[in-house]
Amino acid sequence: MTAVEQAKVYLRQRLSAELSFQNNLETIIEDYAYKLTDIAYAANVPPNMFTFDYNDTIKKAVDDLISEMEQLIISITETLAVATHKDNKDKILARIGRDISGDNFYGRLNSHTGTYRKEIEGLVAAGLLIGASKAKMKASMKQYVRTPYLNPIFKEATKLNQGKAEVLVSKGLHLGVGISNSAFNSINTLGRYTIGDAWMYDGYLDMDAQGAIGYIGHRGSSFPCQECDDEANRFHSLSEGMIYPLHPNCVCYITPVFRNDII
Ligand SMILES: [Zn+2]
Repeated sequence: MTAVEQAKVYLRQRLSAELSFQNNLETIIEDYAYKLTDIAYAANVPPNMFTFDYNDTIKKAVDDLISEMEQLIISITETLAVATHKDNKDKILARIGRDISGDNFYGRLNSHTGTYRKEIEGLVAAGLLIGASKAKMKASMKQYVRTPYLNPIFKEATKLNQGKAEVLVSKGLHLGVGISNSAFNSINTLGRYTIGDAWMYDGYLDMDAQGAIGYIGHRGSSFPCQECDDEANRFHSLSEGMIYPLHPNCVCYITPVFRNDII
């Protein structure tokens, strides 16, 4: 196999790890939405008063579930980031915890699970307000996992101008980034980037161990991207560190350069 062919095989394995994260995440996000729905529907709170902070019993049950979900996502992310690259496990885990623009993976995930808590709070409050059955509530959560604010139950409830849940009051626009935003999308982008980044870094560590002096970046897709075009097809010294992936969803790949290659 040529170096390019090898790098493409490695890229496909990396993308398969990312996809595994996405599939796992979808199941997790749905499972916990159902568990939170069960709590809400059993709570006997007047629908126009419902929030996850209505009383200490609800709050504790909800916070425990959210924290359990967060730990599960951390565990899956770390497992898929390290994958079979056990030799570099400590370095990869340190890389996951590094600061990028003022925060790291763990801080960002915590912020996104906070968003998820608000999102599900708004959805179940909406279901209680319009009297949707628990089964219908859960089915719609599954269907609209990527676009919760387009959930018909949510949309119908916002017309009532009732309720205390934050996203219900703001009609889903509290994040200021559009109605199609969702915790699922945010966590998926974060997790996939973290896993892809770990895989690229492992490749970099291997090149270093094999005595490479640098690497060449290659475009892995024809998606228009100036940043990826600028870095592709040129030499990067190992001392530059691992610059790939350049951004979430970057599928550029790299091939090693050895001293003998340039003499
Ligand atoms: Zn790229």
